[in-house]
Amino acid sequence: MPQVNGRWVANMKSPRTADNEEPAAERALDFRPVDKGFTEEMAVAEAERCLRCKKPLCVQGCPVNIDIPSFIEAIYNREFGRGLDVIRESSMLPAICGRVCPQESQCEGVCIRGKKGEPVAIGQLERFLGDQPELASKPQMAPRNGMRVAVIGSGPSGIACAGELARNGFDVTIFEAFFTGGGVLVYGIPEFRLPKAVVKREIDGLKDMGVKFEFNSVMGRLADAEELLGEKGFDALYVATGAGLPKFLNIPGENLPNVFFANEYLTRVNLMKANQFPEYDTPTKHGRNVVVFGGGNVAMDAVRTAKRLGAERAIIAYRRTEDEMPARKAELHHAKAEGVEVMPLVSPLEFLAGEDGTVRAVRVQKMELGEPDASGRRRPVPIEGAIEEIPCDVAISAIGTNANPFAKLIGGMELNKWGYIDADDNGRTSNPRIWAGGDIVTGAATVILAMGAGKKAAADMTAVLTGADA
Ligand SMILES: Cc1cc2nc3c(=O)[nH]c(=O)nc-3n(C[C@H](O)[C@H](O)[C@H](O)COP(=O)(O)OP(=O)(O)OC[C@H]3O[C@@H](n4cnc5c(N)ncnc54)[C@H](O)[C@@H]3O)c2cc1C
Repeated sequence: MPQVNGRWVANMKSPRTADNEEPAAERALDFRPVDKGFTEEMAVAEAERCLRCKKPLCVQGCPVNIDIPSFIEAIYNREFGRGLDVIRESSMLPAICGRVCPQESQCEGVCIRGKKGEPVAIGQLERFLGDQPELASKPQMAPRNGMRVAVIGSGPSGIACAGELARNGFDVTIFEAFFTGGGVLVYGIPEFRLPKAVVKREIDGLKDMGVKFEFNSVMGRLADAEELLGEKGFDALYVATGAGLPKFLNIPGENLPNVFFANEYLTRVNLMKANQFPEYDTPTKHGRNVVVFGGGNVAMDAVRTAKRLGAERAIIAYRRTEDEMPARKAELHHAKAEGVEVMPLVSPLEFLAGEDGTVRAVRVQKMELGEPDASGRRRPVPIEGAIEEIPCDVAISAIGTNANPFAKLIGGMELNKWGYIDADDNGRTSNPRIWAGGDIVTGAATVILAMGAGKKAAADMTAVLTGADA
């Protein structure tokens, strides 16, 4: 099995291989990775479940159309290096995407095996290969072409673009505002979901390919597009500054001490190691009663971080119900297993201060679901007079983000009225020497879409700048 008379026959009997998770009660005490990933035997057993469909919907369901059946077949044959090469034709970051992609609404969501049972664990299989980068073929490097490109931002979009450009013969410099590379992958997504070492491996891989990094470099302050393309001598720019500007709740008490934006809270812990104060310099409040407003991945990361910092009660407060939460189902499942409480159908009205001036409670409006709105989800409607007070010593707002305002200061290209960069499908902006992609073009989206945009723009930049497009 699964070859019978030269034909692939899937193992229809075995159930989906269970995730290799740490026990919830133990893992919620520290930042160890929740999921240890498949062993070789688990991966091969899971690969046997793939139907090798003639028209594989999983490939269509993947935003970057990875040839999923081929890499699964390679796993079955224990040709792990070949499997990884297959993925790398479409995705630069399999160890990362295997861990954080919303597979249930992409490849696994359309897997035929899921129609009558459990889909193939495609994300786990991708991660299994991604975690063995030493097995991949060495990237073919084109001869240096003498052209220089500046990439602004080192999130998944910037990384993907820089890697492709370096491979295509360009001299690439990434300018990054933070002191380290990875964007949201390091400052937003916590260690227990995506270990920093996995991201570092990708950054180191870029350095090995000759990509230069200029950290602590806030572009738009240090230099703008005109300067970069002028006196600094770059031939082109790729702008991938993300959408990390938090949205305000605009309610009283939002500025009280211990009321945080999720991105700030997560950055303090993930990057500044606030959980290890006083060994590290940036403390944060370790709340005992923590309420997080929001229902997406960011809210889940914040509430699970609060739990790991010792919260006795860690609540996700969401204005709709669990069914409408945009977070990955796996994250909600993990959060609940770790003791996070879900409080549906509430919306914050006001944060209240205690005698010491810090937040002591939040007043919330109880909601019910009304008619569907433009997103197709049922709209939350306030229930008149139903107002409650939730005690808390830390409150975190994770209701979304806006465009990074530095795109405007970098300048040289047109932005839309919300401050996002106007760019086409290839990342071309209004300026023929500037490309852009990732969250700063699409608004807050996903790692794989940001990565895909970087890869696509790099291909277009290569064609235009080398004249192959003429
Ligand atoms: C907490 C959190 C959890 C998430 N979880 C998931 C998940 O599970 N799955 C998923 O698919 N997606 C998830 N996302 C979304 C995903 O991470 C983003 O869509 C993706 O990172 C966008 O990539 P990007 O490269 O466009 O921008 P970013 O990752 O935001 O990177 C932008 C980079 O640009 C730098 N920068 C900004 N301005 C400047 C400047 N002026 N000069 C120099 N550098 C600058 C920033 O410091 C940053 O490093 C999550 C997001 C957050 C915040």
